Amino acid sequence: MNFSLPELPYAHNALEPVISQRTIEYHYGKHHQAYINNLNNLIKGTEFEDKTLEQIIQNAEGAIYNNAAQAWNHTFYFQSFTAQGKQKPEGKLLEAIQQQWGTFEQFQNEFAAAATSLFGSGWAWLVVNQNKQLEITKEPNAGNPLTKQQIPLLTFDVWEHAYYLDYQNQRPEHIKQLWNIIDWNVIEKRYEQAVK
Ligand code: MN
Repeated sequence: MNFSLPELPYAHNALEPVISQRTIEYHYGKHHQAYINNLNNLIKGTEFEDKTLEQIIQNAEGAIYNNAAQAWNHTFYFQSFTAQGKQKPEGKLLEAIQQQWGTFEQFQNEFAAAATSLFGSGWAWLVVNQNKQLEITKEPNAGNPLTKQQIPLLTFDVWEHAYYLDYQNQRPEHIKQLWNIIDWNVIEKRYEQAVK
């Protein structure tokens, strides 16, 4: 399969000032594109040539895994944002968060702590685990919850390329601002799919 860069569901400047147009142009236009180009080149002539992205993530190792997982993670990440979002989820997802962490604010604190404390490059995740419960995880490098039979709901990219142009070394400030652009309608739908 030849993979291509998915369109963004918003204009390149729509997430400003939280994520600048310049960061989108590099992060989406160059980094995300590069993972997809690398993957297309790497799978040529291999057993993965005709597989889906999810099948490649579940079965590949090394460079093929890294580029496939980064392609998937970035698509998932960029589809989680909107300029017109609400400040917190509603319905079943909010109830599940409150059941797990007491309050939405406490969930935010723990998610931010996971994202901030991840050493080096990687991803913080909110997942539905194998017991159908919400869990916060963090994965180094190209880590992806699908390899652990977890269903991802939300992720923050804490590779420096995600924030360095706008926030330099201030990862905690970037994380704090990201809450303003989460598309909770999308996350709620992912949750409903995950637990049905
Ligand atoms: Mn990234």
